[in-house]
Amino acid sequence: MISSVATISRRLSARLISLSSQNKHHRILHRHSSQRFTTNATNNTKEEKKIHDVIIVGGGPTGLLLSNLLSSYNIHSQLLLDKRPINEVLKHPQAHFINIRSMEILKAELPNVYNGVINEMPNVNEWDGFHFGGSVLLSESDNDRKKKYDFSGGRSLGRVIHPVREQLRVGQSGDAILVSKMKSLNEGDVVSSATNNIEGDIVSSCRPAHLAQNKFVKLLLEEARRQHRQKNDKEERDHLRYGEEVINISEQHMSDTNNSIKDHYHNQTSSPIITIETSHGQTYHTRYLIAADGIHSFTRRHCKIPMLGDSSMQNLINVHFRTNDKLSRLLMQRSCSDTSSHNQAMLHFIYNSKVVGAFVCHDGTKGEWVLQIPFFPPYQTIENDFDMTKVRDMIWAGLVGNHRTSTTQEYDEELKFDILSIRPWTMSSLVARTYLNKSKNMLLLGDASHSFPPAGGFGMNTGLQDAHNLAWRLALLLLNIDRVSTSSELVLTDNILSKYEQERKPVATQNAALSVRNYQRTLRIAKACYLDAQHPQLLTSMLSSPPMNMLPLDVRQEMFRRLVKVAMMPLGSLCSESQSLHADHIEKNIKSILESGGSLPLVFPRFELGFSYNTNETPISNDSDTAGYIPRLKVGHRMPHVLVEVVSSDSADSGSIKQMSIIDVSSEMRRSHKTSPPMFTLLVICPTNSIITRVYEAVQCLVRKWNVPIILVRVLSDKSRIQNMDESELHKDIVSVVDMEQKLLHLAHAERFLANHGEGGSKDDDVRESVLVLVRPDGHICQMKYLHESESYSIGLQMIDDGLQNALG
Ligand SMILES: Cc1cc2nc3c(=O)[nH]c(=O)nc-3n(C[C@H](O)[C@H](O)[C@H](O)COP(=O)(O)OP(=O)(O)OC[C@H]3O[C@@H](n4cnc5c(N)ncnc54)[C@H](O)[C@@H]3O)c2cc1C
Repeated sequence: MISSVATISRRLSARLISLSSQNKHHRILHRHSSQRFTTNATNNTKEEKKIHDVIIVGGGPTGLLLSNLLSSYNIHSQLLLDKRPINEVLKHPQAHFINIRSMEILKAELPNVYNGVINEMPNVNEWDGFHFGGSVLLSESDNDRKKKYDFSGGRSLGRVIHPVREQLRVGQSGDAILVSKMKSLNEGDVVSSATNNIEGDIVSSCRPAHLAQNKFVKLLLEEARRQHRQKNDKEERDHLRYGEEVINISEQHMSDTNNSIKDHYHNQTSSPIITIETSHGQTYHTRYLIAADGIHSFTRRHCKIPMLGDSSMQNLINVHFRTNDKLSRLLMQRSCSDTSSHNQAMLHFIYNSKVVGAFVCHDGTKGEWVLQIPFFPPYQTIENDFDMTKVRDMIWAGLVGNHRTSTTQEYDEELKFDILSIRPWTMSSLVARTYLNKSKNMLLLGDASHSFPPAGGFGMNTGLQDAHNLAWRLALLLLNIDRVSTSSELVLTDNILSKYEQERKPVATQNAALSVRNYQRTLRIAKACYLDAQHPQLLTSMLSSPPMNMLPLDVRQEMFRRLVKVAMMPLGSLCSESQSLHADHIEKNIKSILESGGSLPLVFPRFELGFSYNTNETPISNDSDTAGYIPRLKVGHRMPHVLVEVVSSDSADSGSIKQMSIIDVSSEMRRSHKTSPPMFTLLVICPTNSIITRVYEAVQCLVRKWNVPIILVRVLSDKSRIQNMDESELHKDIVSVVDMEQKLLHLAHAERFLANHGEGGSKDDDVRESVLVLVRPDGHICQMKYLHESESYSIGLQMIDDGLQNALG
């Protein structure tokens, strides 16, 4: 579909306003990229003397997405540096859940990556569930297996299915549904109640995805290289430099630099030039430095920006392992139709006497797994408690439920797995006090600005959405700096960057709180197994206080080990074939939590799609974290998804129609103009002929004033209107789309009604009114206006001007 849409977009290319100014931007940018910075250093290479527009420190998912977006906006004077060699970055899976909004961003901005994610992720049947049990392999699922192997599997304590198979509907909650153990209920029934039974419009053209972070990063990396190859000289060095660490950062003010640089900046900015030094002995200069260097960000520390929140919620051991084909097949089999009796799930929360931990199935068919185990230093150590042999035993016990003391693969010669890494990490819930340094030329992005418990999958997703919010701002600012050096009408200031913090920090704070609530949900399940997370904490603090702290550490470590072992021992009943009242109790406790929706959800419709950048709006209430999303055509909100038909009225292509989400129209238009900077979109819903003419004039005037491109989109409810349009109506610079069911108009009227009367009254639509909606390059609404036929040109002009002022600062 993408390619056919692109075809139509090309045919509609003449409809873009201000294309000539975009080309001007493009030319200026390339001239500007060759600026050189005179320094005192004598040995610097030619490369080192160049002033880059942007340097990104950190080539994880957020740094790479930003790099890709900037390239797509034609900002090619950029470098990305990562201290880890590329093989290491591509080795370890971490995040794996890509939520609906992130998928929308990929679909609109980087279709190659979006398609890559869809093609490479496992089938949704394998990851739409969470399983709670004594082991990954279930005890009752396979009698043949029992005869063949000497392990029996663990008891299933419950399995929930999340609504991810189909697109989410308006108002549909993200609640997971407990798969009943009743044999009469089959898989189809459960899935349909989790996904299908809700009437109403879909909220997005995208579904969430499940792909290991290392594979996702590979897709982003390939796309970044492809874009770079397409736009740059072959001689230019790779702009993605892995294995090169940033070890020093300094700033130099304009007064210290030569005149050409000063002229270039034209007194417009007092920002100093940033110089970085790397572990390769290289020196690079840049106007903007982006800290995408993760939770321990070197750049953030250089800026002395503190992180606020809880820096040590829980220590964990992260074990990456790979099962061989035979073990993978065994673990992934769906041996019978009873839904509770198959082994496929995204997360397995496992409780037995050898291991309590979460098994993350990144791709079961390919054998990619990660195990997260709670870790309590200094009373546990990697060397004593998590060496290869012990971790191997824990994995076996967690996978197959056999908790005999054993080493390696004595169960079956052919069932094997390799441990690829064992790493400790600390879970935290933190948000940076500010996202910008004082000069507003160093900005924090992704984990460098926030870190959450990985419960609910918000860490990477929030970072990706930060990058989306930042990229268009940086691109417009850089293009504007160039423009100022030629002839200035209106100057963009670094307010546009301050707004990045104003908008994204509240979202991070909201998502941090949600992730903590999610983490607490997982502790409720542990408590139902008679494991209280507070007990090891209490034990740890007791062992660290007088008089216990007088004992040698190794004695206290041994005491800790023994007590933990005793606490876990009863969980052995969850892997035993004999009847156990204790196991029955645990199962009952867990089922009742799962039945009441108290387990860890995966889909949070309002948090994923309903957050607003309007600072006057109250944050999303936490009364129900999984409550359904209701689309709002309102300033600050993401433009709601509505399927429209894009109509080509070119004589050569008359009658050609393509369906797409209104969200995707502007990016399709932009992509069809390969050199385009970020664009605003002005939707004119239900325009009369006179209104569209007035709005068109207003747009032309404001494109000149602000020097930003605006796509004018006429939203009609009837295709025949286009066929009957005369030449003057069929203006070449206006894209026409058809919204047959007038969903956008209904959303607009509902919004006005809510504003005027609150909920529950009747509507008073005026047919002579059009609705103007100005949408930013990142798909958020920055201004709305109901325009009556009788209202003057200046009102439309004012509306667009206010919207641009709101967005650009
Ligand atoms: C176990 C686990 C599971 C998770 N699951 C999910 C999930 O399902 N969904 C989700 O959204 N999130 C999840 N997360 C969170 C997610 O992994 C992070 O939010 C994400 O990696 C952040 O990306 P980033 O690009 O901001 O930072 P990082 O991925 O940390 O990348 C930072 C990069 O900066 C580089 N760097 C650091 N210092 C320097 C320097 N001085 N010079 C040069 N380079 C430097 C590092 O080498 C690194 O490659 C999970 C996290 C964990 C630990």
